[in-house]
Amino acid sequence: MNYRSETSAIPAIVLADGQVMPKLGFGVYKVAGEQAADTISTALELGYRSIDTASFYGNEDAVGRAVRESGLPRDEVFITTKLWNADHGYDATLRAFDASMKRLGLETLDLYLIHWPVPSADRYVDTFRALQALKRQGRVVSIGVSNFTKRHLERLIGETGEVPAINQVELHPYFAQSELRAFHAAHGIVTEAWSPLGRGAEFNDSVIIALADKLGRTPAQIILRWHMQLGNVAIPKSTNPARMAENLAIFDFELTGREMTQIAGIDKDGRQGADPDLMDMDAPA
Ligand code: NAD
Repeated sequence: MNYRSETSAIPAIVLADGQVMPKLGFGVYKVAGEQAADTISTALELGYRSIDTASFYGNEDAVGRAVRESGLPRDEVFITTKLWNADHGYDATLRAFDASMKRLGLETLDLYLIHWPVPSADRYVDTFRALQALKRQGRVVSIGVSNFTKRHLERLIGETGEVPAINQVELHPYFAQSELRAFHAAHGIVTEAWSPLGRGAEFNDSVIIALADKLGRTPAQIILRWHMQLGNVAIPKSTNPARMAENLAIFDFELTGREMTQIAGIDKDGRQGADPDLMDMDAPA
């Protein structure tokens, strides 16, 4: 069953495999415990239609519960989850997928990603072959990766013959990933930005503040609008309903080419998360 975007106010993007996906979703890393299902329910009430979770986040059950309790038809919500580092390998991936689906309580998943390439384990090609099998069986509609560099992508595509639909990577104005985005565009891979707000790092940047003041928007809205115009999918996280709503209200204004260039000018290789080449089986995310 493919996601249907017609009833949502959020624009959709078409993946290379033909499935559509909301351009703006809701990330749920560190949305935990009793509060998780409530926060996700609020997100769905506010209009979010795409939820980004992972087995590592420990809240797949809360995502499934919130989606069921929302009463929304299953094909109006797009669910992503991810395979954790300790589960790389063909058989281990199939088992981990079953466990995720049990926790989510879903029949079909919209998007399954390999969370990190874990080059030290050297099993991401076999892992992706398991994702291909799950896709052939119809258990997941789209398959992709996360935190893959150009080198990892080249090898994956070369050895499996399949281009992942998405690469979800750290991306925000201080870490704009221009080279990787160009590689994605050349291969038909959609770029999905994690930590799209740089976890707040750019909120005090003078260029972002000047644009926010000029356009009567918040810094978060300027940054998310920049993502939309770059062609990224973005999955900001907040547990504050007012901020969750603010992050959705970005489809009634536009940045000019000059304003986009001004934001491009603040890129400074400001990675905050782990380096994908160094991320190990047991390292924290
Ligand atoms: P983010 O850039 O979304 O920033 C979140 C922080 O910004 C929170 O502290 C929140 O309180 C604050 N914030 C959000 N909206 C705001 C607003 N309007 N005004 C002021 N403050 C605001 O960072 P993130 O949570 O790291 O990333 C988002 C999602 O990306 C995660 O929830 C997860 O789903 C995904 N992610 C994926 C990976 C991966 O390895 N694939 C890694 C990290 C995160």
